[in-house]
Amino acid sequence: MKGVVTDIEAYKTRREQDRVAPFESDRKVVRLSSDVAIGGKEICVIAGPCSIESEEQFLAVISSVKESGAKAIRGGIFKPRTSPYSFQGLGSTGFNILDNAKKTFGSPIISEVMDQRMLEEMAEHVDAFQVGARNMYNYPLLKDLGRLNKPVLLKRSMMATIEEFVGAAEYILSHGNSNVILCERGIRSFDSNTRFCLDLAAISVLKEKLKQPIIVDPSHGTGVARYVEPMALAAIAAGADGIMIEVHATPEKALSDGKQALTFDAFRSLMLKLDKVSNAVGRSI
Ligand code: PEP
Ligand code: MN
Repeated sequence: MKGVVTDIEAYKTRREQDRVAPFESDRKVVRLSSDVAIGGKEICVIAGPCSIESEEQFLAVISSVKESGAKAIRGGIFKPRTSPYSFQGLGSTGFNILDNAKKTFGSPIISEVMDQRMLEEMAEHVDAFQVGARNMYNYPLLKDLGRLNKPVLLKRSMMATIEEFVGAAEYILSHGNSNVILCERGIRSFDSNTRFCLDLAAISVLKEKLKQPIIVDPSHGTGVARYVEPMALAAIAAGADGIMIEVHATPEKALSDGKQALTFDAFRSLMLKLDKVSNAVGRSI
């Protein structure tokens, strides 16, 4: 216990020094695999379905998004649904599907962990853990993720201030894991035309506070498929290191978040536009 506290103190001292000299060239690059990284010059596009519904569905999405240029794949098997009666994901029976997807396509795979007790087992099947918006405040989970070396994609809670978001990231960082990727995914507002209010200014603010790469999730950030493309392009123009997009072969039949999922064609067309925006801001995809 004493050792852990001392490490946190050492981390805190280092952080204070970082604040004095936040050099652009010091920015952290998080590696998802030997050839995929987030935080460098290259934009990292992560795509996949909200939930893995079957192996056939997952492999079809991967095949299409990979061909369109997605570097990493997302797919949830543990789903934090508002209603306990909604589809909760395949659970640990989905591990096999993650393994087969990895074997077939080789792309790094990101999946949400909701329960500390699943960490060890899940670590064998994913390249990065996603911490969802609803778990950003789960400090015991964050501390445990800090003791592992695997990348963590930490999503901002829909009710978190930037200070709270940074604090959550520091729980992981200060416990020894520097492979944290921040994800802006929208916060609650008073307007119901979009599901959440995507806070793109957070990209600039977060860059001043942490060295970690920052990505944006315009799918949850808007909740409406036709708003995903403009917000994805805006995120890259505003300096995000990547985006995470929900894609489904037939969004109207999706078991979760169909309204915000892009079709294969819509994703392909988004990638072509992203290429231009990335080049315009000195990045590439
Ligand atoms: C998700 O990425 O599928 C998800 C549930 O997102 P969030 O935690 O941001 O709501
Ligand atoms: Mn979703």
